[in-house]
Amino acid sequence: MSNFSWKIEFYSKKNRARIGKLETPHGNIETPAFIFCATKGALKTVSTHDAKSCNTQIILSNTYHLMLQPGSEIIANHGGLHNFMSWNGPILTDSGGFQIFSLGHGSVADEIKGRGFNSKRQKTLLKINEEGTLFKSYIDGKNILLTPEKSIEVQKDLGADFILVFDECTPFHVDKSYTEKAMMRSHRWSLRSLNSFNSKKKYNPKFGSSGEQQIYGIVQGGIYNDLREQSIDFNLNKIDTFGIAIGGSLGSSKDEMYKVVNFTSNKLGNSRPVHLLGIGDPKDIWTLVKCGIDTFDCVSPTRLARHGSVFKKGYNGKINIKNSKYEFIVEPIDKECECSTCKNYSLSYLHHLFKSNELLGLQLLTIHNIFYINDMMKSIRKAIKTESLDEEEKNWIK
Ligand SMILES: [Zn+2]
Repeated sequence: MSNFSWKIEFYSKKNRARIGKLETPHGNIETPAFIFCATKGALKTVSTHDAKSCNTQIILSNTYHLMLQPGSEIIANHGGLHNFMSWNGPILTDSGGFQIFSLGHGSVADEIKGRGFNSKRQKTLLKINEEGTLFKSYIDGKNILLTPEKSIEVQKDLGADFILVFDECTPFHVDKSYTEKAMMRSHRWSLRSLNSFNSKKKYNPKFGSSGEQQIYGIVQGGIYNDLREQSIDFNLNKIDTFGIAIGGSLGSSKDEMYKVVNFTSNKLGNSRPVHLLGIGDPKDIWTLVKCGIDTFDCVSPTRLARHGSVFKKGYNGKINIKNSKYEFIVEPIDKECECSTCKNYSLSYLHHLFKSNELLGLQLLTIHNIFYINDMMKSIRKAIKTESLDEEEKNWIK
């Protein structure tokens, strides 16, 4: 019997927001939920125990980085990622496709934020063909062929609760005919991923039954509604996956991204949990839960913290701890925040840590930002139930 289940517990009557529960062998996830990125098996500056104390429900690690370093065999020797990084909650791993393409083409986030691809970044993507993707390791320069079968094999070694089919994440600047060609190939790769996933036991025998996994398909199609429709039909009717992620290019502006996500999630309906790949600004989350998105992931909350940017409830945007106006403020970031940083440290102290390059500053701000996002998701779930999302959003984002 499967230790996984998905159920929607409440539907909003005002929009398509919903409250759900994802059950996994490593615990339940109340949705909508945020998935924090432990890209290389670390949440950068904080431990998984810190993340737990910030009410984190689920974290994500990247197949691409972990297969290069330390290699999936070392992680399998620990009994999988849960033991490797000492996290007993649910984990999602991506398939490696997104990282290879974002390093090769520039990322989706770069495009949405209007940043040009930095040509100084070394191009690592060498070739894409029917078999898979040939890329150059940024660790030792070796050429590596990643195929759907290889991606699933690595993800089985990593042993995350949720894994993804292998896909090609197309950049925005390619034309429609390339987007279509890549989408069709990604569909064929999805079938191969699923064959590989289903051909062996649904759990890595090294890990026992707690290594049971479920797989998500990925909707492609870029900004083109007709292609999105084809990919939605493929994912809903031609393959059988536990959940569905929205991937591919989401356009070159926030408005375009909202339109693509709204169109796609509307047609995906309610039969499976829907994950939106790589989007996680607070404003985007408030907007997109109303389209029926159940889970989000993004590096931004932890990355912003390392750059001194702090979320603050009811504040216009983020505050920058390096600003000299905090030098003399003997108050926490937010008096009402219950995170350990706000309970114990002043803005003045945090400002000092950043000015003096003390590593503790990165850790303390990361703890606050993780706590903030989890607290915000809790408020979102509550507001869905009381049909007060628009009103509650104003308490969080001015
Ligand atoms: Zn705080």
